[in-house]
Formats: sequence, C-alpha cells, structure tokens
Amino acid sequence: MCAAMYLNFCYEVFCFISCILDLYATIMSTATFLDEMRCSPEIIDQPKVEEIIDVIEHVSEHIPHSPKRNLAVSSSVRDLLECPVCLNAMYPPIHQCSNGHTLCSGCKPRVHNRCPTCRHELGNIRCLALEKIAASLELPCKYQSFGCVGIYPYFCKLKHESQCQYRPYSCPYAGSECTVMGDIPYLVTHLKDDHKVDMHSGSTFNHRYVKSNPHEVENATWMLTVFSCFGEYFCLHFEAFQLGNAPVYIAFLRFMGDDVEAKNYSYSLEVGGNGRKMIWQGVPRSIRDSHRKVRDSFDGLIIQRSMALFFSGGDRKELKLRVTGRIWKEQ
Ligand SMILES: [Zn+2]
Ligand SMILES: [Zn+2]
Ligand SMILES: [Zn+2]
Ligand SMILES: [Zn+2]
Repeated sequence: MCAAMYLNFCYEVFCFISCILDLYATIMSTATFLDEMRCSPEIIDQPKVEEIIDVIEHVSEHIPHSPKRNLAVSSSVRDLLECPVCLNAMYPPIHQCSNGHTLCSGCKPRVHNRCPTCRHELGNIRCLALEKIAASLELPCKYQSFGCVGIYPYFCKLKHESQCQYRPYSCPYAGSECTVMGDIPYLVTHLKDDHKVDMHSGSTFNHRYVKSNPHEVENATWMLTVFSCFGEYFCLHFEAFQLGNAPVYIAFLRFMGDDVEAKNYSYSLEVGGNGRKMIWQGVPRSIRDSHRKVRDSFDGLIIQRSMALFFSGGDRKELKLRVTGRIWKEQ
C-alpha cells in the first residue's frame, strides 16, 4: 500500500466512525426528548418547564448565600405564576389552553371558554406541573422591605401577608379618601406635613371643639389630634354623625400600631358643663381597624346632640365642647 492509498483509507474509516457517532447522538437526543414528553404530558412548551426547574434549583441552592439573586430568581418564577388576566398569583386549580397558556380559576369563567392569550378554545385542562412547581416554592414575604424576614411556602404566603406585622398601615386621617400607606414614623410625618394635624405630647389632654351652627350635622364634621406618649402615637378622633334620625357626636382614641400593642393601654374621656358630666373609659383601637369601623361599633364616648348643647351652655346657638382625657399603660 502506498502512502497516498493508506491516507485515503484512514480518512474513510474516520468518516464512517463519525457518521456512526452522529447517528447515535441523534437517536439518544430523540429518545430523551420522547422520555421528557412522556413524563410531563400537560406541558407543550417544553423549554419553559426546563427553565422553571432550573430556576427552582437555583432558588433552593442560593437562599442562604445570595439574597439578591434569590429575589431576582423568585420574581421570575412569580411572573410565571401570575395570571395574565387579573395579574394575581395563581392558586390551584391552575388552568391552561391546549397551547399551554395558563389562567387562574377565578378568571376562567369570565373569558367564555376562550384562551385570553391565543383565543383557542379553553376546554378543561389543569396545569398540574405548574401547580406542583408552585407547591414546591418558598418565597420571601412581600413586606421584606418593611423588615419581615419570613420565607413561606407559596400556598401559605398569602395568609401570612394578610396578617404580617410588618405590613404597612393605612393613613388614619378620616376626612378624605387618603390612600397613603407606610410604617408609623412615616405616617406621623405625613399627618403633620400633608394633613396639618395638631400634634401634642403627653398623656393628658384638654380639648375644645367649637362649631357655630350645631344644627347642621354632616358626616364631614370631624377632627383628628395626634398624641405622643410612652414612645407611641395615639389618634384622638372627634366627629359628628347621624345615628338613625338623631345627630350625635363621638370621640374615641386609636393606637398607631397593632392590636396586641393597643390592648396594653387604656384611656378615659370626660365631657361636661352646666352641672352635667359624662365619662368614658375604653381601650384604644388599632389603626388597623378603619375609622369608620370603630365609629360604627360605637366604641367611644357618644354624646347626643341635645346633651352636647346642654354642655355647651344651653343657648343652643353654638356647640362648645370641652373634652379632657388621659391615656395610661396597663400593668
Ligand atoms: Zn386571573
Ligand atoms: Zn392559549
Ligand atoms: Zn411578613
Ligand atoms: Zn393621609
């Protein structure tokens, strides 16, 4: 065999072997793909599932070491679990169309059996894979930036967040539909700066409410004063409202904090004049309870208008109420 013939022979052998290897690789990859298809028949969009699984592995690997990455990763998983119609997190049963687009069970009846993404008929297919993925997730509480360090299984997260002690408070100002939310120091500054609320320090107070035409009782007649004592903040509300046909006044105290803390305090209110006096003792309500809820439960000092006018001096021309009060800490 000459050298040229020998080289040519080697080349042919090489081509044959690489051809065999190619064929083997093709068979193997097809088999793997078919295996995967058999394992998860609900999922049509295969690469997406691999992405999700990959992401979950990263979540469990990286929680203790890299909170930044954890946040980014969990937010991309959360995107997958977001209903495209109502944008809420999806909970079982999660539905999907025959093209694999997902939808929450609350929105399904509203889309008239048409997939909102591709307009195909929706049918009745559950996305079990996504439900299982959701069940295996552990996510940080959404009030992490307010100080909560809790990490919760996906299906418990919502319940925790509805009771999380770090969830922001709504603005306690009653007279407007203010939508500001925040922690207590933020809200105290907001009440001072944006609502121009009177601020007092100390646990005793002496307040005057004067109204020139007491015969008009509109719901907008209210006042708010903020007291700071014991290192906490309290809101004193005074308001006129209609109880059935009778106009009445109510004064009550709310605690700027949670209910468990509020129960550590008591307060008294006293109003009188013209030889008459009314005293109320109560427990401040948390500002978690809306101003309206407290008012409608009559949890405060309630003064009938005729009595309020007696206290005012009896000439029925002007409302002049002097309310004194005290807040103390229970042992
Ligand atoms: Zn939805
Ligand atoms: Zn679809
Ligand atoms: Zn929390
Ligand atoms: Zn406000």
